[in-house]
Amino acid sequence: MGREYQLFINGEFVESESRRTFDTINPFTQEIVARVARAGIEDARAAIRAARHAFDEGPWSRMSPAERSALIKAVSDKINERTKSLIDLEVEDSGSTIRKAKEDIFLSARCLNYYSKLAAQDFTENIEGLSKPGFAQNLLVHEPIGVVAAIIPWNFPLKMAVWKLGPALAAGNTIVLKPSELTPCTAMELAAICSEVGIPEGVVNIIPGFGEDAGEELAKNPMVDKVAFTGSTTVGRKVMAAASASLKKCTLECGGKSANIVLDDADIDMAVDGAMYAIFYHAGQCCEAGSRLLLSEKIHDEFIEKLAAKTGKIILGDPANEHTDMGPLISRKQQERVLRYIVKGKEQGAKIVTGGNIPTAAELLRGFFVEPTIFVNVDNASVIAQEEIFGPVLSVIKHKNDDDAVRIANDSVYGLGGGVWSRDKERAMNIARRLRTGTVWINEWHLISEKAPFGGYKQSGIGREFGLDGLKEYSETKHVHIDEIGIREKKFWYDTVVPKG
Ligand code: NAD
Repeated sequence: MGREYQLFINGEFVESESRRTFDTINPFTQEIVARVARAGIEDARAAIRAARHAFDEGPWSRMSPAERSALIKAVSDKINERTKSLIDLEVEDSGSTIRKAKEDIFLSARCLNYYSKLAAQDFTENIEGLSKPGFAQNLLVHEPIGVVAAIIPWNFPLKMAVWKLGPALAAGNTIVLKPSELTPCTAMELAAICSEVGIPEGVVNIIPGFGEDAGEELAKNPMVDKVAFTGSTTVGRKVMAAASASLKKCTLECGGKSANIVLDDADIDMAVDGAMYAIFYHAGQCCEAGSRLLLSEKIHDEFIEKLAAKTGKIILGDPANEHTDMGPLISRKQQERVLRYIVKGKEQGAKIVTGGNIPTAAELLRGFFVEPTIFVNVDNASVIAQEEIFGPVLSVIKHKNDDDAVRIANDSVYGLGGGVWSRDKERAMNIARRLRTGTVWINEWHLISEKAPFGGYKQSGIGREFGLDGLKEYSETKHVHIDEIGIREKKFWYDTVVPKG
């Protein structure tokens, strides 16, 4: 164990008030990656006070958009400069394959670059048609909300951090970010970068810690104006309840059980590869994973034969090795949870065509692996079709026709992603319109860009990240009415309450 991280509060790296620490574990080797200061309630409060002061009194909210933009761009540039070390750290701390981590670090820098450009823009608008020309002007002004508390999960540690940091800062807010207790390392490197580039003290505070104390305090503290949460639907509900006492703005990016629909006219070989990418990317630990595969009964058997054969070739291994296709799950707890779902699937009558176990190869035994697993004969009402497993487990369900596919896809409490594979764009588009999900991919999966809004219908969440919709989630909208006639005799005044004369 070499690394140690402290809390980043008010521009300084400090121990936690209680002096408590926790260790993060490499999910492939079970070795300790870092010893990390554990933020508790008092530390969360100190970070909130710092963010409050920096917003109310400090320079950030009063800086020019160009100045804020330059600082956000500087953070993006530093991430690019440190690509190699950030990739290696992400692999160690989160078990991400190096191939995925390379993409994640590149995309993190790109995301901040995008927000640095938005930070420089003035989005003030004129509301046309409200007042007669010459009588009044009506402006729509977008302003920061204030102090943002951001709470994030472990599956894309740096990406999740910048997905909150970028829009929060671009809109002029200050922020307290709590990374997941399982993967705090790259977020703490981000803190170091913010310090180096000169983000003013208190504007960015990063406090590694657990949900039960630091997380809860962020969600309920009345000095916080907005909570931006990404994580499970179960915790999302708690966060929303805690935030309700002071009626905070809340965006929730939660779980999913996304349906991947393959029509009878699909390019089967492409759809087989696409279905594998949809579910097995990052060992299924993605909110938008294509975890339900809805196959046309006309192509079902041929498709499953090809899918099972190719899935059997996925290379499990050391995530730091370029040849590895799939790494371990994040923790022993997650591995056990996934295995429990596999048992439940079998109990409820589904049949495994490949996988279903912990791999037995000696070099994998210390990692938290589960084999890529495919269940067929799945009833959409069963547990493995309704609950988010968050592991490499695919539930395959047959559909009879397009209407049937839409009915099954929408029969879920979630509504995050969805997909359609077809050679007929119009047919696929008809289905896309009927899916009750925030994103639909046609002949593609996992394509999430900072330029397009992303988020959930139903219990997959509230609000959107990315694009202008995403930026507005971090802004208040103010209507400013400017009278331009300058005369006293205003009809409404005298028609209602003010005596004439
Ligand atoms: P989680 O809900 O267990 O934890 C998420 C974060 O919430 C962590 O930082 C945790 O410490 C904190 N937390 C836990 N209890 C809390 C409480 N009572 N109050 C405040 N904070 C609390 O989720 P996870 O296991 O880290 O991540 C996996 C989940 O995240 C999956 O459900 C996945 O679908 C979801 N996710 C969603 C998106 C999206 O964009 N919709 C993206 C990634 C992950």
